[in-house]
Amino acid sequence: MYADVILPLPFSDLYTYTVPVEMQNKIAKGFRVIVPFGTRKHYTAIVKRVHNNAPKNFKTKEIHSIVDSQLVINDIQFKLWEWISFYYMSPIGDVYNAAMPSSMKSDNIKSKFKPKTETYLKINTNIDTDLIVEIIGRAKKQKSLFKQLYNYFEEKEINKINKSDLSNFTNYSPSVLNGLLQKEILQAFDLEVGRINNEVKPLREPYPLSEAQNKSFENIINVFKDKSTCLLHGVTSSGKTEIYIHLIEHFKKQNKQTLYLLPEIALTSQLKQRLIAVYGSKIGVYHSKINDNERAEIWRKMLSNEPYEIIVGVRSSLFLPFQNLGLVIVDEEHETSYKQNEPAPRYHARDTAIMLAHLFNAKTILGSATPSLESYNNAVIGKYGIINLKDRYNNLLMPDIKIENTYELIKRKKMKTVLSPALNTAMQKSLDEGEQVILFRNRRGFSSLLECKQCAWNPKCAKCDVTLTYHKMRNRMVCHYCNTSYKVPSICPSCHSETLETLGKGTEQLEEEVSKLFPNYTVGRMDMDTTRGRDSYDKIIKKFQKKQIDILVGTQMLSKGLDFDNVGIVGIISADSLLNYPDFRSHERGFQLMMQAAGRAGRNKKQGKVIIQSSDPTQPIYDYILNYNYEGFYTEQIAERKLFRYPPFTRLISIIFKDKNEYKVEKGSNLFARTIKPSLGNMVLGPNKPVISRIQQYNIREILLKLDINMSVSKIRDFLKQVELQLREDNEFKYLHIYYDVDII
Ligand code: ADP
Ligand code: ZN
Ligand code: ZN
Repeated sequence: MYADVILPLPFSDLYTYTVPVEMQNKIAKGFRVIVPFGTRKHYTAIVKRVHNNAPKNFKTKEIHSIVDSQLVINDIQFKLWEWISFYYMSPIGDVYNAAMPSSMKSDNIKSKFKPKTETYLKINTNIDTDLIVEIIGRAKKQKSLFKQLYNYFEEKEINKINKSDLSNFTNYSPSVLNGLLQKEILQAFDLEVGRINNEVKPLREPYPLSEAQNKSFENIINVFKDKSTCLLHGVTSSGKTEIYIHLIEHFKKQNKQTLYLLPEIALTSQLKQRLIAVYGSKIGVYHSKINDNERAEIWRKMLSNEPYEIIVGVRSSLFLPFQNLGLVIVDEEHETSYKQNEPAPRYHARDTAIMLAHLFNAKTILGSATPSLESYNNAVIGKYGIINLKDRYNNLLMPDIKIENTYELIKRKKMKTVLSPALNTAMQKSLDEGEQVILFRNRRGFSSLLECKQCAWNPKCAKCDVTLTYHKMRNRMVCHYCNTSYKVPSICPSCHSETLETLGKGTEQLEEEVSKLFPNYTVGRMDMDTTRGRDSYDKIIKKFQKKQIDILVGTQMLSKGLDFDNVGIVGIISADSLLNYPDFRSHERGFQLMMQAAGRAGRNKKQGKVIIQSSDPTQPIYDYILNYNYEGFYTEQIAERKLFRYPPFTRLISIIFKDKNEYKVEKGSNLFARTIKPSLGNMVLGPNKPVISRIQQYNIREILLKLDINMSVSKIRDFLKQVELQLREDNEFKYLHIYYDVDII
């Protein structure tokens, strides 16, 4: 008997092992086994197939041992893995690696997962009660403790007690207990306890829905009758989360599980608090900052007879062994953090969620105040249903958005600090009234972008409509889509001043300046640097919720779906830098970010205020923002996407080449491009040198494919794989790193 297994290594192939006779009736598809690999190593592999066909041209090794007595990967999971591996062109071993908590696939022979145990005590029932009295003899304290325990057990109708509860009894001391244990009157034993599964009872029923919410709810249920995916386009604070809760209820009544996906770990804790009130410990929270043993435990519980009914998590929770999934909620579906960029598999969790739902015959709800153009387009063409919620819950007003023209202000010498006078005054007023302030600044400085300090002009590629990046060494501006390079102009082509500069200032500097301007208020900062630690993100958010921070300065991290109730003012500093990213999605991102950021203001009774500082407010995007006009924005953007052949009209696949030897990576990528161009023609761009063209001694080149959306994924995949194999036949390129990123973000 043989077993084909998946190894936790970046291989596309299954590996075949001999199943020793004594294991033959203990092994099946979906079990973990320990197998030898290479000269000395052992790995935890997953059995994909058991069969009797001896491999012809090589001698198989034996399976070392079996880990499980039940399957840990079910058929639907295998199908999902295979789809990811196929669509995202990633080795199946990488999918396995991404899917499972590391303690479940450790390469040690013994499983690393150690269940947590606690010590319990029981009365030795083999000794007669009369005899016990005799054995205890004159040890008074022992007698007293025993009697108390005996009565306690009788009264509660129980037969064991947690050792730590003993301290509540009079006369208890470790030596008294030891006496009773030595006389074998009491017996100690260890019991496995859940690390996470402390029973929590629900506190309340879901809130009743408002009329508008209820109508949306019913429309969604209606859409689900003939479509499997529905987009819920609801403005910030329209009460989407409450609608999700009612959808969860709906599916729970049919005994179906729900997966509730969020784009960021940071958002899980606020949502968890909200859901626990309604569902108690029926929900499991799953993400990478939960320790690995806990994740393994959630996995086990999902396999048990009492699986979680609701899982809240980030993209990795797609891989849990659901048994009866009915609904997938993808909240903030437009967020780009749903896409995994590194390492493989480079999958998009939203799109994978729709596939997962499909495999279960389940439904998907995509929710957002600012849907991605892709999803909105799918709704427009009728692939998805769509429900619109235009008003905030409780008749709350949308924040009032104002734009400050910093170009004019600088000219009139009114910009003494990073804050415009209007923003400064509004902040002061709001803080005086006890409200809080959020200030956004684009990521951190991007020093490879050029901008005119006077008029905010920035250079764009004529062919790709994308901001050019500045290469200092070559003193050229380069399009990283098509590789065209341009001369750096000495004066600004738009306003003719000599003020072209690279962008820079980040959040840290903003924090510093704001602290100086508002010395009586506490300023906090949230960006990549301040949120590295396990709980740091949560801590900052909690501090802000508890009003221990008055002004929170942060990057886009802060705009995402958080529900604060005391924010009077949201300020967006140098909004243009959001729009000038060298990416065809920069306007979409900028629009989403500004709308979402605005949504953090005024979630209480009072109308909130948003001030956007821009040096080029004539751009049409600001009109759409001021008027909360998503449809207008969509119509404009989708036309551009069509014109410049971007998604959703094309599928972008990036082919990445890496090698320590620059000559080799250059030659290899060029050869690859030359081989595919006859078939794919102008759908092939590059090879290019990416903005960051060398990482940890590896030189990088990139070919971008802009494929017609109707082209068959499997044909393209086969073609590319074949070209790759052909290239590798040349010894020079045998070990050249080549990988694919499908649907790049
Ligand atoms: P969204 O997810 O659309 O941003 P939320 O669901 O977070 O909106 O709702 C905004 C606020 O309104 C939250 O504080 C929420 O508790 C409250 N809310 C929404 N719907 C209801 C309802 N039906 N009953 C009571 N409170 C609600
Ligand atoms: Zn270009
Ligand atoms: Zn200029």
